[in-house]
Amino acid sequence: MIIFGSPSRYYQGPGCFDRIGDIVSGIGKRVVVLADSFVLPMLEERLHRRFAQSALEAQILPFSGDVTHGTIATLTAEVEAGPLGRQVDVVVAIGGGKAIDVGKALCHKLGCAVVTVPTAAANDAPTSKNYVVYDDHHVLVEVAHLSENPKAVIADTDIIAGAPRALLVAGIGDAVTKAFEAAQCYAVQGKTMFGEKPSLSALALAEAGYRVVRDHAVEGLAIAGTAPPNAAFEKLVEALFVMGGIGFESGGLSIAHAMTRGLSLVPEVAMAMHGQQVAYGLLVQLTLEGRSEDFLADMRAFYDAVGLATSLSTLGFSGVEDGAFRVIAGPTLAAPHTKNFTRTLSEADLIDAMRRVEAAGVNFPTRTGDI
Ligand SMILES: [Zn+2]
Repeated sequence: MIIFGSPSRYYQGPGCFDRIGDIVSGIGKRVVVLADSFVLPMLEERLHRRFAQSALEAQILPFSGDVTHGTIATLTAEVEAGPLGRQVDVVVAIGGGKAIDVGKALCHKLGCAVVTVPTAAANDAPTSKNYVVYDDHHVLVEVAHLSENPKAVIADTDIIAGAPRALLVAGIGDAVTKAFEAAQCYAVQGKTMFGEKPSLSALALAEAGYRVVRDHAVEGLAIAGTAPPNAAFEKLVEALFVMGGIGFESGGLSIAHAMTRGLSLVPEVAMAMHGQQVAYGLLVQLTLEGRSEDFLADMRAFYDAVGLATSLSTLGFSGVEDGAFRVIAGPTLAAPHTKNFTRTLSEADLIDAMRRVEAAGVNFPTRTGDI
């Protein structure tokens, strides 16, 4: 059996944040807004105005910090003690990856719908039903699943274009992996995030997303953080959120994302953004796939052009040695996505591939300011 999932509605374009009242009121009237405390002051007045026009009753919670079980419990208690109690129809999660994930966690606890409003394109969390929980040391402890994808995603590209460039670089890293991971999963008819076989439609979306990213990343990045969105930026955001997000969820993941299980155990690497980690993981996956030197060189040149790390050293890790490779390899091999690969991998296979990526990456000193 295959399962194909997606958000019920996806909105993208300059200024579409102002549709928030209409969109949310079509889902429910009692609303908890979980907003990144950095971006909330920039949007709060518009939010109040649009919610008032749609007669929405809202509790607004600013959020900063990490997505841990402790944070999720504290926020749930705050909502239950607040004006709406447990009578919440919808959680609106506004922010980058962490606020989106903690908003999903809150909706999971409250048993209501979720609407995501990404303010940066740093990963594909806004469209997916998954969220990632860390411990107090930022070690990944759980990938949790909602029963449904977000009811709506509101991607206002005026807002997203104002986010720091490094966030979009990470988003490109998260998007570039999907076609290769979905292809591996499809080849072995592995399990997707729905626990069933991959859908051909999702594979097609992931492949289309890869082409868009390769064709438009540099031009789209040129305006990131400095100017209104251009056409390339719009395409890039759609490729990241829609093609990459839906592509991985119903198409499946493989080695690139499995590696985050191991990478998050190395403190210096754990601090790097998810997109940088999986982009590195993709280089390891492509090496394990036996891709030609020309293919790998082309991919490294692309990474260098956009500011993605081509090795653990360029990711900022100073202790690159076999001991660290072993620390990373163990949990990576134990991750379920590792089964979505055309051969069974050993620790030696993975360590050898990491060594080769490290050696080749030396020639591509990625600009550290982008990481
Ligand atoms: Zn990802």
